[in-house]
Amino acid sequence: MKRHLSKLARLLPRGAIRSDFLTLKNNSSDAWMASSLPDAVAFPKNTAEVSKIVAFCHRHRIPVTTRGGGRGYVGGCVPVKGGLVLSLVKMNRIREISPQDGVAVVQPGVITSKLASTAKRRRLFYPPDPASLKESTLGGNIATNAGGPRCLKYGVTRNYVLGLEVVLADGTVVRVGGRTHKNRTGFDLVGLFTGSEGMLGVVTEATLRLLKILGSGLLPCALEIADPFTLAAARKAIPNAPRCDSMLLVEFDGQPSSVKSELAIAAKVLRSTSSKIFTAHGDAACEKIWEIRRGFSYALRDTGLVKLNEDVTVPRGRIVDLFHLAAKLQKNYGIPISCFGHAGDGNIHVNLMAPIGTRHDDPRMHRILSELFQGVLKMGGVISGEHGIGLAKKPWWNAASTPALRKLHQRIKKVLDPKDVLNPGKFL
Ligand SMILES: Cc1cc2nc3c(=O)[nH]c(=O)nc-3n(C[C@H](O)[C@H](O)[C@H](O)COP(=O)(O)OP(=O)(O)OC[C@H]3O[C@@H](n4cnc5c(N)ncnc54)[C@H](O)[C@@H]3O)c2cc1C
Repeated sequence: MKRHLSKLARLLPRGAIRSDFLTLKNNSSDAWMASSLPDAVAFPKNTAEVSKIVAFCHRHRIPVTTRGGGRGYVGGCVPVKGGLVLSLVKMNRIREISPQDGVAVVQPGVITSKLASTAKRRRLFYPPDPASLKESTLGGNIATNAGGPRCLKYGVTRNYVLGLEVVLADGTVVRVGGRTHKNRTGFDLVGLFTGSEGMLGVVTEATLRLLKILGSGLLPCALEIADPFTLAAARKAIPNAPRCDSMLLVEFDGQPSSVKSELAIAAKVLRSTSSKIFTAHGDAACEKIWEIRRGFSYALRDTGLVKLNEDVTVPRGRIVDLFHLAAKLQKNYGIPISCFGHAGDGNIHVNLMAPIGTRHDDPRMHRILSELFQGVLKMGGVISGEHGIGLAKKPWWNAASTPALRKLHQRIKKVLDPKDVLNPGKFL
């Protein structure tokens, strides 16, 4: 082992591998009672170094125990089999905070409270708050799917992880999830790695969801949008559908008095861009407005045209670009396109309204969809935010994934369904 580890040290920058007693001791335990000395501790500074270290250990069967802040309560980062502790404390940069997209991109060694306070300064909110937040790392929080007092209202760490870069046991670097607030491209591998306690891979970067407190200090629970074609169809089918070319539906929840004052502030903000504002309070009145929104799909079906319903999702800051792309496709191909959906998370239903009798494998529709999906992927979006791949998006699965991601899907499928009897013929 010692010989191997000194060979590994020669492959890395000076000081990246240490084996002095104090370093070994400091990396032998967490906040629980167990303790065990590793043979060495690695301090990589980037993903390439992590990949090199893990691939080397894989080749020589050296145990690797990943460590964040070492504040776990269950001995998760204790190297009981010796070998190498992979400490991520030097990968501690917040790479990006994007108010437009409502995301932070971080290295795993960032201390949790540092992200929370940096986000707060930008009027953004990162809710997960384990009581260890001043000492634990975001990588550790992800690997343990940490909770905290605010879980009651906001949920656990998993609810804030949108994308991960992970180094697998053989050193392969794979990216799962992404930057969008919804993503249904393939298996939920973000969910698989979150809470996996360092046993399935090493998290080397995370894209985390930040809640956006709107300029006015408001945090709506729903933000829905609809375009002229959708609203024209709605007026023919739904009583009370609004007589306007576009619609933004904003919902607030909470105590009646606080909702009332938030609504008043929202109305003030929206007045500069909206010609008409309707407000409703209480379940019955709000339900009447939601009935309009829920009726959109049925109203589009009633046009008699064939609705090819796509659920693409883009980073929130690119919603306007998505509407422009849909308008361009509509103009270039002469096919009406209806856009409506969840503006709050960038998930817009882009519906191609094809002539009656159009089949699902129509080559012209395929071309339009290819252009739509390519445009969305270029924006950092995903081809499905809600519905999944199924058969409909199978032709674009390769474009929407990397070889490493596809291989990972296949390996998981092989382990759990070695004879390929479960739902064969789909995207794997
Ligand atoms: C005072 C105190 C209060 C606490 N309060 C809470 C609480 O309110 N809620 C809560 O959920 N927990 C709490 N904890 C437990 C602990 O803080 C959490 O489990 C935290 O997420 C651990 O983070 P860490 O960076 O210290 O991880 P570590 O202890 O270093 O590691 C924990 C696990 O994650 C793995 N790991 C670490 N980083 C990575 C990575 N980048 N990639 C893959 N695997 C990795 C390790 O191998 C290990 O299995 C508390 C602990 C203390 C000491």
